[in-house]
Amino acid sequence: MSIRWHLRFMVAAEMLGFLAAEGLVVYGFVAGAFGQSLAYAAVAMVVAGVVGVMAPRLLFRKLIPARCDQAGCSGRALVVSENPIVYSCKACGKSVETAVFEGGGPDHHSDRDRFG
Ligand SMILES: [Zn+2]
Repeated sequence: MSIRWHLRFMVAAEMLGFLAAEGLVVYGFVAGAFGQSLAYAAVAMVVAGVVGVMAPRLLFRKLIPARCDQAGCSGRALVVSENPIVYSCKACGKSVETAVFEGGGPDHHSDRDRFG
């Protein structure tokens, strides 16, 4: 699929993964899986949120490549950076910078600078 659609599917999969994971926790809580403990349920919500987002993100980044949009090339374009998300083609080396930011947010780079 093209980079544009790959990006849309990846973001959609992350949101669905998040909602599905949180839905499972809510279902588990209602079903008594946490012994009606709000503390356990809160921890489970956090863990489920991270896993629910990271699992589809890794899936789309490592296992499902986008198709390079360079004319005459249909190589595998993978995400190589996330602030913003940048795709890089393994075949021709073309990079495509998108307008989508993920990960550490605007302070990401300054944190990295501060700690070396
Ligand atoms: Zn290419």
